[in-house]
This record gives sequence, structure tokens and C-alpha cells, in this order.
Amino acid sequence: MGVRLNFYGGAGMVTGSCFQIEHGRGGFLVDCGMFQGTKTVRELNYGVFPFQPAAIDFVLLTHAHIDHSGLLPKLSRRGFERTIHATAPTVDLLSFMLPDSGHIQESEVERLNRRNRRRGRPPVEPIYTRKDAEDLMRRIEGHAYERWFEPGPGVRARFWNAGHILGSASIEVRVDDDGGPVHLLFSGDLGPDEKVFHLEPDAPAGFDYLVCESTYGDRDRADATVEERRRALCREINNALAAGGNLLIPAFAVERTQELLHDIGVLMAERQIKGVPVFLDSPLANNATQVFARHAAALEDIALDESELFRNPSFRFVESVEESKSINRITAGAIIIAASGMCEAGRIRHHLKSNLWRTKATVLFVGYQAPGTLGRLILDGEKTVRMFGEEIAVKARIRQIGNYSAHADQKELVAWVVERLPVRGGIFLTHGEDEAREALRLQLIEAGCDRSLVHLPKLDDGFDLVAAAPAPRKERISDSEIVRDWHNDYALLLLELPRRLEALPDDRARRALLRRLHAELPE
Ligand SMILES: [Zn+2]
Repeated sequence: MGVRLNFYGGAGMVTGSCFQIEHGRGGFLVDCGMFQGTKTVRELNYGVFPFQPAAIDFVLLTHAHIDHSGLLPKLSRRGFERTIHATAPTVDLLSFMLPDSGHIQESEVERLNRRNRRRGRPPVEPIYTRKDAEDLMRRIEGHAYERWFEPGPGVRARFWNAGHILGSASIEVRVDDDGGPVHLLFSGDLGPDEKVFHLEPDAPAGFDYLVCESTYGDRDRADATVEERRRALCREINNALAAGGNLLIPAFAVERTQELLHDIGVLMAERQIKGVPVFLDSPLANNATQVFARHAAALEDIALDESELFRNPSFRFVESVEESKSINRITAGAIIIAASGMCEAGRIRHHLKSNLWRTKATVLFVGYQAPGTLGRLILDGEKTVRMFGEEIAVKARIRQIGNYSAHADQKELVAWVVERLPVRGGIFLTHGEDEAREALRLQLIEAGCDRSLVHLPKLDDGFDLVAAAPAPRKERISDSEIVRDWHNDYALLLLELPRRLEALPDDRARRALLRRLHAELPE
């Protein structure tokens, strides 16, 4: 039957990474991530998978981030009973990240069902529960980097350091096929060259197919060393404290939080910033911090003594809800780091509610904000936001540091691809918004990649792969369509419509708008 690659997530968007390989002797997944962003995008988490979970032989997992791993418990709830392969640190991180995600699913559905009962609607089931996630952990197998293993008949795989977060990997795969083995590399998320904790990404060269992320495919950061980045953080912290309020940093629980703690620890040790209280208000991040401390010997570029890593008299690791609530009484002079990084869930929302309306407070963004998320709305300058059923005015100072990203920028992505050449069959750009991957496509062509090799798959697209010599593709499309086609406009409308409808004052206005739109449709 040949080898087929299907893009079931992370195509035309950053989240929901999920690629399926079908071949003569079976099929497997690379990643099975949760969709994050607008309501429409998140709805994808609740639907059926576009494949049979019971027919999946195994899963190869690039790293622990929820947008790559978050639907694994759903996969097993829907009938997948086999093994998931990941690096050893990824297994450690997942052991609390997936149960935590299960807990979030359960509590969100509980809230929704309370509302549904009042409206006389039937209850809905959580995507999965904490228990589903805990049960799944028994089937995740840890592997060392750079060692081949055979996850299923006719398939060999090995992990390469991707330099993105602890345990992150690119995955090299060889799939036996009648026409000879097909040799692929999935980049996973790629880290920048300059970063504390991890070496720059690495992998061999010479593949049939390459699947490469493009999150920051349209962005070039000013070259910043680890020290320069720390100085930028230092400036932001001192300005925020001088403004006379609290400093809120929404941060992903894994990696970003530990980088921030490391750098704040260094700045305090150098007396560049005052020893103000730093609240790490995220049990998940606290767990992740312990995993980092456990793997400290394997971490690079640490500017502190290993024994001092994350140990600082100013750091307060907050666990209980009561303790978290008590922080709300502090109106100035504290640094509060809390998840989630895009402000969609977690304790950061309570701190935003207490601080966003204060002119002296500062919110500092250090990571990617997906369109439609609360973080993106605030960053884009919305004057009021809705949280917990209330309108909150945004009066705080809104700041951003780009250089703390855990992702490679455009020139680093191009360099990574060029180092993997020759690639004979095709380069698929995934895990990026359309502008980002289009910009990356042009840069890759500029850098010498054959124009016909670079593809921008859309969600649910499938491609027939062949060893070495690619078959002519029927579904070739014009360049102008790649930049923007009616699917993009359609997707944009679908993304925008629910938001616009929500923003209308009542159901009457919503129905009126829908009637007007409907009237425009041709017979
Ligand atoms: Zn990631």
C-alpha cells in the first residue's frame, strides 16, 4: 500500500500536533496533542479522532508539552491499548502533567454541567479524567537519546536532542516498504541555539522526508546571548517594581518557569534586583521544578551552583488554594509567576483579576500567545476582558520579552533544515500559523531548497510517501493559493464568528446576525 503521512493536528496552527503514518504492516502516531486557542479550535478536542484508535500500533512522542501529549489519555479511553515511546525525562514530566490535565478536564466539565443542568441540557463527559491519565502512565516507555529501537514490525526509530525543553526530541524513523525503506525526520519543537539548560538541537542529515515546525518561521530575534536576555529581564523587573505594583508573569509550567527562576536567582545573587518575594503559584510548575532539580546534572549553561538551583530565600513555592488566595492581598512589590502561559486556565487568571485593573501593576509575557486566547487579547491591547463572568478593565502595564522563547527563530529553523539536507522527497512545514510557515517556506527556497519540495499541509491533508524518488503530486496548488486561499478566509470566518456572536448583547441580536448571513448565501 506504500507509506502515507496524514496531518491530523499542528497543520496551519501551532497546537494539536498529531501526525499519522500508515504503512503496509500497520500504522502509528507521532504526538497526540491537545488543541488550544479559540473555542472552535478547542472543540476539536471533544470530537472523534479521524482514525481508529484501536488500530494504532504505537505512539512516538516528541516531548511533554500538552499541545503534543495532551490527547494521549483520550486516545486510550477510545480504544488504544499499546505502548507510547518517549525519552526518559519526558516520562518523568508526563507522570504529573497528564494527571493534572485530566484534573483540569474534569473540573471544566463539572462547571459546564452545572450550567447545563440549569439550562435543562444533558450533561457532557470530560475528554478524560485524572484516572485515565494515571492508568496511561503504565504504558509509556522511556528511551535514551540516539539509540535505535523497534516500536513495531517494520519500523525503527531513535530520538535526537531538540533543545526545546527537558526531554524534548526530534524523532528519526525508518519505515520498511516494498519500494525500500522510507526515512523520515520529525523535528518536534526545536529550541533556540542560545538557551540555558539545553544544547542546541542535533540530528543526522539525508532523509526522504522532513517534517519541521515553524512556530517562529516569520520572526528573527535580535541575536541575544543568555546574558543579554537576562539583562532584558532585569530591566523589566526593575521597571515593574519602580512602577509601584506587582509583576505578573504568565508562564508555562515546564521549562519557561524554571528558566525564569534560574535567571531571577542569578540576578538576585548579583544584586541586580532586590530580594523581593517571588511566588511560584503553580503546583504543576513546582513538580516540574523538582524534575529539573533531579536532572540538574544533565542541564547546560547553569550560572548557579547546582545545589543552589531553584533554592533561594525569596522564592515561595505555593501549593494550597488558600495560600494562593492570600497573595491577592499583596498589591505591590511581588513577582508572581503562574500558569497557564496563555492565561486560559490555572491560577494566573485569579492574579490577573486582582491586578489587571491596577495602573501600577505589570503583566510581562514571555511566551507564544495563540490567537483567541486571553493572553493574546491582553497583549493585542484589549481595553477590557471578560473573566469569571465579569468585565475587567485592562489598565496595567503590558510588556513582552521575545527572547525567552523555547523555540528556534527563522534563521535557526532555516539553519536546522539546511543541516539536514539532502532531503529527497519533501519538507512539510507544520506547527505554525500560515504567515509564519509561508515566510519560512520562502526563506528555505532562498537557502537552496527546491521549491517543489516544500509543502504546507492543511489540517487532515494526507500525502503518499515513497523512498528516494517522489511520485508526481496530483494535488499541487498554485503559489498564490499557498499564501492565501478561500480555505483561509473560511477558517478565519469560522474562527471569528463565534467570538463576534459571543460579543453581541443577547441571543436576539445573535439570531438576527445569523439570519442576515444566511440570507447572503446563494440558492
Ligand atoms: Zn513544545
